[in-house]
Amino acid sequence: MKEHSIYHCLSCQHTPLELSEEGYTCPNCNTLFLVKDGISILVKEAQEHEAQLAEARSINPAWYEEEQKAEAESPWRHHLKKRRSFVKDSIARYLSSCGKQKAETMLDLGCGDGNNLAWLTDYAEQLWGSDYNILRLARVKERKLNVGIFLGNILDYPVVDNTFEIVYFNHVLEHIQDDDAALATAHRVLKPGGLLVLGVPNEGVWWWQLAYKRAPGTLESTDHVHFYTAETISQKVLTAGFSITEVKHLGWGPPDWTWDMRVRKYKILDDLFDIIGKLFIPTQASSLYIMAIKENN
Ligand SMILES: [Zn+2]
Repeated sequence: MKEHSIYHCLSCQHTPLELSEEGYTCPNCNTLFLVKDGISILVKEAQEHEAQLAEARSINPAWYEEEQKAEAESPWRHHLKKRRSFVKDSIARYLSSCGKQKAETMLDLGCGDGNNLAWLTDYAEQLWGSDYNILRLARVKERKLNVGIFLGNILDYPVVDNTFEIVYFNHVLEHIQDDDAALATAHRVLKPGGLLVLGVPNEGVWWWQLAYKRAPGTLESTDHVHFYTAETISQKVLTAGFSITEVKHLGWGPPDWTWDMRVRKYKILDDLFDIIGKLFIPTQASSLYIMAIKENN
């Protein structure tokens, strides 16, 4: 995997960087980006980045340190499986429309502990995962997947324009204050004609707003900063320059955070909520997926 060919220098945008024993050096301005324990540290101020994360960890260790549960261990495992099946089918359909079985290049943007990288490898010759939290990338590394991983800030992203055929951007955007800039990054690094797979919670709709109203403490403690509906997220995706091919609602449950977790761990109840939800409140699903194409221009 020729990793250095996808990176550009954060100081001067030069590409390619040169790989040495220490890390990546920009041949134009000599900026050095270290590689630590096999993870490329592609942020401008690595120490400052680490200090900010250390502070964030001390305020809320759960968001920044706790292991992300594997699908099989999650109370929402049946829902997560449905999401994964939907995304797999969508990616396979896109690839087949391009006459391919695998994408040449794919990115999991905000890959966390790598739970999704583990199955995304089936769909790409070259798969990359990036995150802004090095603890999570260290866990990805332990999995020994055939994946290029790097630390990067989505708002100052170290990747050359038009690099990936598919960008998988799953449950990340709702955490980022400047979500428009984050979407612009996803657009920039996709190849023209490339596919964006965007997953976000559907928490702006009245059903899940009701859940928040019933438990105001949850609203105060959530790390989500955006509460999208199909309309609001679609508008953002269009504004970023994509054309949307599908907006999918997935997963229904009781509008109570505690009960939702308890009830949906049983497949029969998760399936039952899906049937009732699709019939009576089709737009009030818990998850949204947007499939979108970066137009050729
Ligand atoms: Zn440079």
